[in-house]
Amino acid sequence: MKIWPVDSIRKGIITTKFPAKKNETISPWSTIPVRIGDEEVFCPADAIDKKGVDMRKCISCGLCVTSFEPSLRTDNYELKRKERALRRSFKIFPIDSGTCGSCNTELHSINNPYYDVSRLGIFFTNTPKQADALVIMGVYSEKMIPVIRAAIGAMSKPAVVILFGACALSGNIFGKDLESLLDPDLIIGGCPPDPFVIIEALEKVRGRK
Ligand code: SF4
Ligand code: SF4
Repeated sequence: MKIWPVDSIRKGIITTKFPAKKNETISPWSTIPVRIGDEEVFCPADAIDKKGVDMRKCISCGLCVTSFEPSLRTDNYELKRKERALRRSFKIFPIDSGTCGSCNTELHSINNPYYDVSRLGIFFTNTPKQADALVIMGVYSEKMIPVIRAAIGAMSKPAVVILFGACALSGNIFGKDLESLLDPDLIIGGCPPDPFVIIEALEKVRGRK
């Protein structure tokens, strides 16, 4: 039988040093894929063009794995505005407008002992009134639009709006996105985004990188 305090002491500190040190355990298929073959691929999300795979649209269905391989590039996010006033403390309020659950899971995983974003001054909050960032994920849903707008209105300023995952950015296969409606400060692609990508993008929007 394991005695957990002894086991913990033996293991030592497991928390990643990222972003001070390079990410060690990123999952390859969450990084931007590059083409390795010429064959035509049917993409249900219309995410493949001449440049490669558009991570705003890709829903990770896997149908193109014979023609693409991971590049280990993690810059599948786009920063539109930085808010340097949020460098010291950054509180996140997530809104789920209709996800499959994975975007939620990956976002909350940045709080676990391995990623432990509290060491960077990033925390979760239960109310938009205390939030510095609203993270919106999931597909477009008409009834959620007033809820999202009310949450944006309730945030104290300065604050940023972040769109998270392919469903929010392109509408998944349903086709209607949230980006054109909400004018976000940061968008993070992926289905779902990898925790290392999330941390890197959050550090950028706070002006810390
Ligand atoms: S994995 Fe992404 S790019 Fe490839 S076919 Fe599926 S949706 Fe399209
Ligand atoms: S982007 Fe992908 S992981 Fe995120 S909610 Fe949509 S289907 Fe799920």
